[in-house]
Amino acid sequence: MSVGTLMDWRTGLDAGDLSAEFLAMEALDRMDQREGDLNAILFRDRELTLDAARKADRRLRAGERTPMLGIPVVLKDNLHWKGAPLSNGSRIMQGYTAPYNATVVNRLLEAGAVPMGKANMDEFAMGSSGEYSAFGPTRNPWDLSRVAGGSSSGSIVSVAAGYAPFALGTDTGGSVRLPGSFCNITALRPTYGALSRYGVSAMASSLDQVGPVAASARDLALGLSVLTGRDPLDSTSLDLPGTKGLADLRPATLRGLRIGLPREYFGEGIEPGVRGVLEAAFQRLAAEGAELVPVSLPHTRYAIDTYYLIVTSEVSSNLSRYDGVRFGLRREAGELQEMISGTRDAGLGAEVKRRILLGAFCLSKGYYDAFYLKALKARTLITRDFVEAFKQVDILATPVSPGTAFPLGANLADPMAMYLADVFTVTMPLAALPVVAAPAGFSEGLPVGLQFVGPSLSDVKLLEITEAWQGISDFHRKRS
Ligand code: GLN
Repeated sequence: MSVGTLMDWRTGLDAGDLSAEFLAMEALDRMDQREGDLNAILFRDRELTLDAARKADRRLRAGERTPMLGIPVVLKDNLHWKGAPLSNGSRIMQGYTAPYNATVVNRLLEAGAVPMGKANMDEFAMGSSGEYSAFGPTRNPWDLSRVAGGSSSGSIVSVAAGYAPFALGTDTGGSVRLPGSFCNITALRPTYGALSRYGVSAMASSLDQVGPVAASARDLALGLSVLTGRDPLDSTSLDLPGTKGLADLRPATLRGLRIGLPREYFGEGIEPGVRGVLEAAFQRLAAEGAELVPVSLPHTRYAIDTYYLIVTSEVSSNLSRYDGVRFGLRREAGELQEMISGTRDAGLGAEVKRRILLGAFCLSKGYYDAFYLKALKARTLITRDFVEAFKQVDILATPVSPGTAFPLGANLADPMAMYLADVFTVTMPLAALPVVAAPAGFSEGLPVGLQFVGPSLSDVKLLEITEAWQGISDFHRKRS
């Protein structure tokens, strides 16, 4: 299938060869054709979309030339978009309409982006496959019998299938990078705080970040250029340095770049096809003059335990607000307690319940020190590993996941197997670091991704490095 990139569309719109309305109509047609198979979208409204497109066309005709004007975008369904239903992929939100815009949504809309719809997702962003949505799984456009990856399944598939060249997901422990890697899409998990979380449904607050996704680093930069900037409505938000001129991304020089390859990320358990793709990618980078340096992140072995203890603890606290009292689903019952437990029982899926229960257990008196506090200590050790590594190298490169997209249903009976898909993506959020996941090649016809990890606030540099990689490879250009 041939669908333009954001950059192509930008050029066409600015030259007057394309109209935003035409692009939106084409994208809506693609949705009509493919949604029956893919199930990436939970809400869309043709008139709303076309209305926004016509407004963008008026701004274009008036001479405005800005990065996202007239560009279709898709929003994960945990982002508040005023007037649209917000489901979090859950039945418990039934009947809830967003009363305001998330800051990131506001910034995109004000920049003239054209909203195409809300994207399917694992319930409350908990999951690695996209199968934990209450509204059915999203399928992988490269192979409909396989998962898209989660939790930002619909956002990623929307870009892969040409519904929009840019989408927003969220990444708490890998949720844009894993589906990105499974569907051949480029995804950024920014430095913690780089994008505002005002109006983003909270999963695990010490880890949650908004994650932009697109077909290339260059396209990501265009979108990111209208999203950054401190937001007084989010006390954790900060100003990302280097974003001036971001829309005009330049490739980094690979010659002399010291790329650390952490030993712990290339051990047993990686599928041979994935390993082969990564080795070829690193050799290609070395051929351009990058220096490959073996490094060690010794506490990586604690990553999954640490991440899942912290996540479940924060989840059990954050999700207590969904109680049927103020909004969403309500199961009427005689006593208040019965109403609350009846609503939560009916409204929440098994994975969310599992995490709430585990988290409540971790935080309870007597277990707090043994589990939660210990996990926080391990988090510090994991963070220090990175600090040490960045004394020797400029960036790190790793796989995104040990395998390619797995068949639908393969991990549903085994939560541990599902958690292990995240083994290479959870450490960077624990250390609050930025990461780009980008296409690296194919194994048996399925996409394989790699990650570039940098020190705090090196987001723009990582995009420049990815741009350099995408200048010497063309995997990211292949479409499903
Ligand atoms: N798969 C991870 C989890 O289930 C990551 C989720 C996310 O980043 N939102 O927790």
